[in-house]
Amino acid sequence: ASPIDVARIRQQFPILSRMVKGKPLVYLDNAATSQKPQVVIDALVDYYTGYNANIHRGIHTLAEEATAAFESTRDTAQRFINAALREEIIFTRGTTEGINLVAYTWGRQNVQAGDEIIISAMEHHSNIVPWQILCEEKGANLKVIPINDDGELLMEEYERLLSNKTKLVSVVHVSNSLGTINPVKQIIDLAHQAGAVVMIDGAQSTVHMNIDVQALDCDFFACSAHKLYGPTGVGVLYGKKHILEAMPVFMGGGEMIKEVTFAKTTYNDLPYKYEAGTPNIADVIAFKAAIDFINEIGKANIAQHEQDVLQYATAQLEQIHGLHIVGKAVEKASVLSFTVDKVHPQDLGILLDNRGIAVRTGHHCTQPLMDRFCIPGTTRASFAVYSTREEVDALVAGLQKAIQLLL
Ligand code: PMP
Repeated sequence: ASPIDVARIRQQFPILSRMVKGKPLVYLDNAATSQKPQVVIDALVDYYTGYNANIHRGIHTLAEEATAAFESTRDTAQRFINAALREEIIFTRGTTEGINLVAYTWGRQNVQAGDEIIISAMEHHSNIVPWQILCEEKGANLKVIPINDDGELLMEEYERLLSNKTKLVSVVHVSNSLGTINPVKQIIDLAHQAGAVVMIDGAQSTVHMNIDVQALDCDFFACSAHKLYGPTGVGVLYGKKHILEAMPVFMGGGEMIKEVTFAKTTYNDLPYKYEAGTPNIADVIAFKAAIDFINEIGKANIAQHEQDVLQYATAQLEQIHGLHIVGKAVEKASVLSFTVDKVHPQDLGILLDNRGIAVRTGHHCTQPLMDRFCIPGTTRASFAVYSTREEVDALVAGLQKAIQLLL
């Protein structure tokens, strides 16, 4: 049973009452991006209508109000992932930028020829390509933790890959394609024993589970606001203070400097050292409303509700003849990927859309993972706090109809 009043929560998301192709929208693409509650939309409108101004530099009232709201998101985000210090919270455009920032700064300073970086077989392209670029530039090597057929990391293989050559381990907390929840605490501890630094891709995990970067003891953690009921174009990169302080700068420009002369420039303190230029002020401010929204419901309640929908959906989909669930990890978040014999995912996606049902089809930016399963892609349904069993029923009916038409 669900611990939350889903009907009441759905009313807070205006988009959920729209029609698509004459049918009520059934939005099951939450792993790509979640919908936004009215409080988040209001925060954006309030900023632009009430106190739009550039931050940090101004002494006038609007600038002060905007700066206070912007910096207040930093405090909220700090508590949300339990970082020890507010200056360990760096605003980025999203997870992708967070990972790239680390690759281009920490990576360039610390990775040399012959060094090794370990990722896993289930990484999103954004946690593969930046490391490939770095390895190519430095003559370092990328190693990959393999997975079993259920989509779980082979931890013994991981231990075998670790050595004194390992400089960095960067793994996804929750797989966007499989839903697997990885044992990141164990991964981090083993990496630290080998003397390596650890980055966690929290793009999918942060919305579904409690995040405590101090308990995890990860060195870097990246996430995106838009998967947390917040706006696009905003993310957080967490890094341990002593590591961030020792890292070279990333982008140069306004805000990240202390003093500039043509002879020499000194850099600003954390976190501003990594926030060059005018940031995405409105969206950072609205991100706070999204975190407050999640905190008000409670992550444990959200997780319990999503697990209920996931288990119901898994049981229902398993009844469909010729359907195979991809990703059967014991520890799973609310992502359900599947293939159907002799049916292309894209055809399924189009027929479902005709019934107002939004799912994702394709490789989900995890092509090497699809290769591992010898499939071109999957159809993926992913659930959120507002997902219901009735929506799962609509998905199942839509799938049955589509399969009938296509076979
Ligand atoms: N990692 C994972 C696991 C993801 O699911 C995503 C988003 N699909 C990303 C990284 C990249 O996030 P963003 O596009 O918000 O930068």
